[in-house]
Amino acid sequence: PPPTIGSSVIPIVNKLQDILTPVRGQLAQISLPQVAVVGSQSSGKSSVLEALVGRDFLPRGCDICTRRPLVLMLENLPRRPDEDGVAEWGEFRHLPGKRFYDFSKIRQEIQAETDREVGYNKGVSDKEIRLKISSPNVLNMVLVDLPGITKVPVGDQPSDIEARIRKMIMAHIRQENCIILAVSPANSDLATSDALQMAREADPTGSRTIGVITKLDIMDRGTDARKFLLGNVIPLRLGYVGVVNRSQEDINKNRSIANALTYEERFFRDHPVYRGLLDHCGIPQLARKLNQILEHHIRTVLPDLKAELNSFMVGVIKDLRTFGEAMESRGEQGVILLNILTRYCEAFSAMVDGKSQELSTK
Ligand code: GDP
Ligand code: MG
Repeated sequence: PPPTIGSSVIPIVNKLQDILTPVRGQLAQISLPQVAVVGSQSSGKSSVLEALVGRDFLPRGCDICTRRPLVLMLENLPRRPDEDGVAEWGEFRHLPGKRFYDFSKIRQEIQAETDREVGYNKGVSDKEIRLKISSPNVLNMVLVDLPGITKVPVGDQPSDIEARIRKMIMAHIRQENCIILAVSPANSDLATSDALQMAREADPTGSRTIGVITKLDIMDRGTDARKFLLGNVIPLRLGYVGVVNRSQEDINKNRSIANALTYEERFFRDHPVYRGLLDHCGIPQLARKLNQILEHHIRTVLPDLKAELNSFMVGVIKDLRTFGEAMESRGEQGVILLNILTRYCEAFSAMVDGKSQELSTK
């Protein structure tokens, strides 16, 4: 299967969690950066997120679908050995305890819940919808789908709609641990992209912004996004990736994500310009880029985790001493625990120092 967001990082995180199992709950969890999409309305933000997760579940295409921030909490639930089917489900914060196994029902509920809060007539609200997706195929991380930037109020929208939406977007992307996917459609003027302007405001050094150029399949004939993809127009430190997502017709015809990815691959491979820029093209390439960033992040937090684990050990040793000789049997248990902990610490240190296979391959 094509790489989805976090897929190459899942084994590392799972391994770390295995190592930390005996002391879990006592230590800080590894928290990964959020990923949020920004861009103008209908630029393809929801489409990009959906393709990265590899599941169909976000409302797309209609006029203004995303009218409340959707905070998508991905939770890695390792598959139990006794399960053979794929156990994946979604659960909304506003419907606790109700598991959605059918992802098209998740989409319906997002739409219904949007309408409940902001009415049927294009209103927008900063009240988040929170959805948790539990699956063996995702990482513990947060994705945020945001309403698009609009200029002209329509329907029930207040006259200051643009300012409101900008404020809502900024509240999310200003956070230092947020990776910004700045989505600009290739069939409009890239040089004046709203997404890139807002991303720059939130991340002036461009250290956590990836430029995503959508709709490369419907650019004006005779033009292409080569200069943009290469960063020659608006440079970005993390660079750009061009993608082709499903068109409205594809959505109406229920074209699958897998099918769309095959189409995308062929599109780039056969294209006279893009076939020379394949490392800047395609959803799998974007997923790879994100994986690299996540991996880098994990490496950065490992030393802190190691220090935390060490001081936890010191505490355990101290406790052991207080058992004294009178409590021999409990003391023995303590020694066993200490041995286990020491082994885990060693395994953990090997990972941090890059001596273990899992982390030293790159
Ligand atoms: P959002 O408003 O930014 O979340 O945009 P959506 O993801 O809802 O997409 C808006 C419309 O553009 C939908 O009809 C999509 O099918 C279409 N679309 C998105 N990306 C592409 C693309 O790369 N190529 C084509 N042809 N259509 C796309
Ligand atoms: Mg959307």
